[in-house]
Amino acid sequence: MLKMRAMQVPRPGGPFELVERDIPDPGAGSVRIKVQACGICHSDSLTKEGHMPGISYPRVPGHEVVGIVDAVGAGVAGWMPGQRAGLGWNGGYCGHCDNCRRGNFFACQTATYITGVTSDGGYADYTIARAEALARVPDELSAVDAAPLMCAGITTFNCLRKSGARPGDLVAVLGLGGLGHLGVQFASKIGFRTVVIARGQDKEALAKSLGAWRYIDSRAQDPAAELQKLGGAKVVLATVTAGDAMAAVLGGLGVKGTLMVIGAAMSMELAPAQLIGGSHAIKGWYSGTSIDSQDTLAFSVLAGVRSMNEVFPLEQATEGYERMLSGKVRFRAVLTTGH
Ligand SMILES: [Zn+2]
Ligand SMILES: [Zn+2]
Repeated sequence: MLKMRAMQVPRPGGPFELVERDIPDPGAGSVRIKVQACGICHSDSLTKEGHMPGISYPRVPGHEVVGIVDAVGAGVAGWMPGQRAGLGWNGGYCGHCDNCRRGNFFACQTATYITGVTSDGGYADYTIARAEALARVPDELSAVDAAPLMCAGITTFNCLRKSGARPGDLVAVLGLGGLGHLGVQFASKIGFRTVVIARGQDKEALAKSLGAWRYIDSRAQDPAAELQKLGGAKVVLATVTAGDAMAAVLGGLGVKGTLMVIGAAMSMELAPAQLIGGSHAIKGWYSGTSIDSQDTLAFSVLAGVRSMNEVFPLEQATEGYERMLSGKVRFRAVLTTGH
């Protein structure tokens, strides 16, 4: 039996362990991916730290996977060995439950497949993926370029394009980290009047270089008042994980404006009455499924959107993970296998 390397989490809160495992074979409906790159996402902490109930250990995290299909299980249509493939958070869906039949595949009721959570993910030389969870990866993107687009990219792009904002509308991106630095690029390339709200004057140059039309320093200025001076935002893309930072921009929404929440803040205090006068909304957004990832990759090629990455070899998953957790990474950490 051929062996592979994997960086597994032995138990909730346990350290990453470099282990040798048998290379798995794909079952019916699945393919095996020879992993080239896998992004490290903040949500990997759910697996690493055991913050999600029901995870069985040991578990290999990683849901920003890009590689080459190298074996195809029975009954898989449309995929062949040698094709490039990307795999994200959504690990597949049944296709026959009521939610799937209504087109809400992300909310599949019969099978919750989450890459790196309910199955082993991309911190390894090989991983197994259900065929419906695969996105095609264009030749123009390297594996390292494509990996962060499989979660941070799809989440920001899919949210913005489905937010209801149209070209020329005022759209603010709250936060300029792993999600935000992609969000501002997508927002600007889609054609929004893109405003970045972040802390400190030092981030203005970067925000502008990524396509921001205006920059608001939330330490020195009141972001809500500044957005109102610009006419009020049609959409605020909230990428931060602090509820008070989200609450502070609510007053910057224009009439029928929406706060689109993709940052997993645990609580937020607001006066519901504040939502009424301008008919404002607060809405959560699930990243998307494989076709949304594929659209994200294609748009990124078309528009020249790229993640800024720090690259670590697979064996240094601990270093990469800690750098991501510390918030110091500029702006995504990506593991490479050398394949
Ligand atoms: Zn993620
Ligand atoms: Zn379903």
